[in-house]
Amino acid sequence: PILLEARDVLGGKIAAWKDKDGDWYETGLHIFFGAYPNIQNLFGELGIDDRLQWKEHSMIFAMPNKPGEFSRFDFPEVLPAPLNGIWAILKNNEMLTWPEKVKFAIGLVPAILGGQAYVEAQDGLTVKEWMRKQGIPDRVTTEVFIAMSKALNFINPDELSMQCILIALNRFLQEKHGSKMAFLDGSPPERLCQPIVDHIQSLGGEVRLNSRLQKIELNNDGTVKSFVLQNNSVIEADAYVSAAPVDIFKLLVPENWKEIPYFKKLDKLVGVPVINVHI
Ligand SMILES: Cc1cc2nc3c(=O)[nH]c(=O)nc-3n(C[C@H](O)[C@H](O)[C@H](O)COP(=O)(O)OP(=O)(O)OC[C@H]3O[C@@H](n4cnc5c(N)ncnc54)[C@H](O)[C@@H]3O)c2cc1C
Repeated sequence: PILLEARDVLGGKIAAWKDKDGDWYETGLHIFFGAYPNIQNLFGELGIDDRLQWKEHSMIFAMPNKPGEFSRFDFPEVLPAPLNGIWAILKNNEMLTWPEKVKFAIGLVPAILGGQAYVEAQDGLTVKEWMRKQGIPDRVTTEVFIAMSKALNFINPDELSMQCILIALNRFLQEKHGSKMAFLDGSPPERLCQPIVDHIQSLGGEVRLNSRLQKIELNNDGTVKSFVLQNNSVIEADAYVSAAPVDIFKLLVPENWKEIPYFKKLDKLVGVPVINVHI
């Protein structure tokens, strides 16, 4: 295979750069959750499992009304899922009162029992609307779900679909280590991307930086003829895969493909601009 990367750095949204003092600037500090089986398989296949530094199994929230204080959701190791998550929620008294816990738990029961079908059916509601429907006060949405909505999609509970929160909560509640977090032990381009490049190259593949795809050329039957890059070179292959972000891919979709239902769904997907400030 030939992997074409537009920029001069590996990693996309996990890219990082070294400044003149040798310090790393990351696009965003990345958490690896226990609920990511594919990424863990990737680490395993590359033989770099030891580069994930697992933290104790807790979710710690800053308290908006008590600056400097933190509220913990501790998941006990001895309990299986979902009991470890339920225990963590029940034991937390700073952010949720008992009536709020009960209302929240009742709200989650259909998600746990109904699974994916229930979760997808909540796509029409924002997080804020769903919480209000369960009778959960706006205070909880402000204290817990602003943080969770921003962490998942960089937007607020009155904009985010409840489906996103339920997908995450379902995974966290159904898998014992789903919400356990790990950090990489160094910069992603060096510690994760470079081993991927080495693996591809060891099998005869190529990774080319500064190779921006500019146009997807089609055959008469609508299949891909070639990729034309910004530097005018043309790549022909047996199979083509695009892993470009949605906003960029929308610009690359050939005119003939735009009315195909599969690609038409892209219209509704919009990216969220994110700025990362390093202090
Ligand atoms: C600030 C921040 C913090 C985040 N924190 C977390 C976190 O803690 N945990 C978590 O799980 N996720 C987190 N994410 C989300 C995560 O980074 C992304 O979901 C993931 O990196 C997306 O990977 P990707 O390969 O799909 O896309 P990208 O990483 O965007 O990769 C797409 C690649 O395509 C390249 N490209 C674009 N156009 C072209 C073209 N025309 N030709 C060739 N190449 C092209 C880009 O340069 C890029 O390298 C965070 C994201 C951000 C921005």
